[in-house]
Amino acid sequence: MARLVDYILGHQDIIQKMIESFEAGKPGQTFLFVGPSGVGKKQTAIALAQALICQQSLRGCGQCPSCFRVASGHHENLKIIQPDGAQIKMEQAKEVLEFLSFKSLGGSRVIIFDQAHLMNSQVGNSLLKTLEEPPEGTFFFLIAPSVAGVLPTIRSRSRIVQFKPLSMDDLNKRVKAPTWALKSANGSFEKLATLQDGPELETRQKSVEILNVFLKDNDFILNEMWRSEFKERAQGQRILSYWLGFFRDAIALQEGAKEQISSIDQAPLIKNLAEINRKRLLSLADGVLLAERALIANRDSQLVMEEYFVTTKNI
Ligand SMILES: [Zn+2]
Repeated sequence: MARLVDYILGHQDIIQKMIESFEAGKPGQTFLFVGPSGVGKKQTAIALAQALICQQSLRGCGQCPSCFRVASGHHENLKIIQPDGAQIKMEQAKEVLEFLSFKSLGGSRVIIFDQAHLMNSQVGNSLLKTLEEPPEGTFFFLIAPSVAGVLPTIRSRSRIVQFKPLSMDDLNKRVKAPTWALKSANGSFEKLATLQDGPELETRQKSVEILNVFLKDNDFILNEMWRSEFKERAQGQRILSYWLGFFRDAIALQEGAKEQISSIDQAPLIKNLAEINRKRLLSLADGVLLAERALIANRDSQLVMEEYFVTTKNI
């Protein structure tokens, strides 16, 4: 058994500051954790809940029965609300209010709202008063990808805590992954897991294959090999996002900034791309951005790609 805060990767500055403010008895019981998904916001909230609920110390002792129960996911003073389907529902808000109406069993109470941006204004309104002035010893941690998605009324009643992406070293401490995946994960365990997913690896491999043929074939538009992969818009978007990464890597190589290259497992492709003159390379990358925008706007992906191949052909 141990203190959960010791197991959080990165974010130690946030944890330290918050624990110090709990110890100093500073005001503020409603916190809004924002930042990219998969960096550990919820784990941090649970670890801080353990510290708050601990019977021994506001730093969490990791040894007492309370610490043990929080770590095992069951403590009567901790409530974690996850969206029920696509949103946080009114019944869940009522459940929280009822939870708070019980006489405290002693110790702090902590409520975590995961994906707090999925709370509509009706649900939010029912909680406003409580979030603004939580009962003594009650703490709220609301978690969301960004401040923008959260109801303004909730935002204004919360202390906003901004989480940063994790470093590559931090990711690497917990997960064994190839360097290209660590570099492409943008500091998120969630993204890292997706990148290593079988179907996703296949899509990436396809994106390499198509790009290799595109570079060699002057009449690529007549080549049928790419069409099936761009039949579905989502798949097309994935492929384009990999291409953009490869083009950026090639530009980094041209600049001699090798340390900035993400897809180091694709050295031959990046080297080939880096031999293309800068003007064409930039137009290939710009074209991808335009094509991505067209796909987001629901245009037919095969048509969008035909345009891409035609407009970038002679630059
Ligand atoms: Zn304890």
